[in-house]
Amino acid sequence: AKENQGNTYEFYNYKMSEQMDKNIEIEHKLKHALEKREFILHYQPKVDIKTNKITGLEALVRWKCPEKGLIYPNNFIPVAEETGLIKKLDEHILELSCLQIKEWINEGLNPPNISINISGKTFYENDFLDRLESILEDTEVSYESISIEITETAAMKDKKYTYKILEQIRSKGIKILLDDFGKGYSSLSYLKDFPIDVLKIDKSFVDNICYNNIDSSITRAIIDMAKALKLKVLAEGVETEEQLRLLDNFSCEEYQGYLFSKPLPVEKIEIMLTKNTEK
Ligand code: C2E
Ligand code: CA
Ligand code: CA
Ligand code: CA
Repeated sequence: AKENQGNTYEFYNYKMSEQMDKNIEIEHKLKHALEKREFILHYQPKVDIKTNKITGLEALVRWKCPEKGLIYPNNFIPVAEETGLIKKLDEHILELSCLQIKEWINEGLNPPNISINISGKTFYENDFLDRLESILEDTEVSYESISIEITETAAMKDKKYTYKILEQIRSKGIKILLDDFGKGYSSLSYLKDFPIDVLKIDKSFVDNICYNNIDSSITRAIIDMAKALKLKVLAEGVETEEQLRLLDNFSCEEYQGYLFSKPLPVEKIEIMLTKNTEK
């Protein structure tokens, strides 16, 4: 038995170091990709339910890997978070978004507000606010041009700290979206005077609103509560007309989802933006 335990121990040890080797390898590749500027952004429109007009864009990162093609964030963001590379990556994405806004302005396009996803890891770095400010100053983009998306779960890790930082960010004119809302199961009372602008209802609720009474009740309750707190509500992951109609009935104001558009590369989103202003 003793020998077996020894083997088991060694086996786990081996497995663990194998995973660690893998992460070190991915970390190395991500670092290289950052240096080579292989990350690009796709943009998904946010849409006003009543007017069907684009009200903003969400920047979503993709890795344009020369060997493997386009890699989606679920395949590298978690490793970037584990290895601490996420800070550099998020800052890079922030910069790319600002440069894109500037380019669109120079081209005479009137770009809508762009929201950027910030990992909880990055948000809790003590120089996040400084970095945010210097990126906006360096790229000469106004604070009102961008928004920050932070997940409910990340925001709840340290409410006091989050409150303080979000308030400072918001005082500059940057809007705050609470992402994946409803998934964190946090108590709702804290929202009463939390410095945020928009609740993004998590896709997992939207997925089932047409079939599941509980999910539709929760969605309706979130929207009603947001209204009472004078927050905007945006539903994410809307794929069908039925979902949209129900959300409209619930007085949800904005949505995102494949029904209107998938996240699109720059060239395609430019065409869409041109049409949006013509109409
Ligand atoms: P998220 O912030 O909740 O973004 C929404 C995800 O749902 C996106 O996946 C989007 O493409 C997808 N989506 C939007 N509408 C629909 C729909 O109607 N149906 C379905 N099935 N999916 C839809 P994506 O781009 O693969 O991003 C996944 C996650 O990776 C994001 O979830 C976010 O947590 C993270 N992420 C993406 N870009 C960044 C980034 O620049 N920085 C950080 N820190 N995280 C990012
Ligand atoms: Ca998001
Ligand atoms: Ca989300
Ligand atoms: Ca989500």
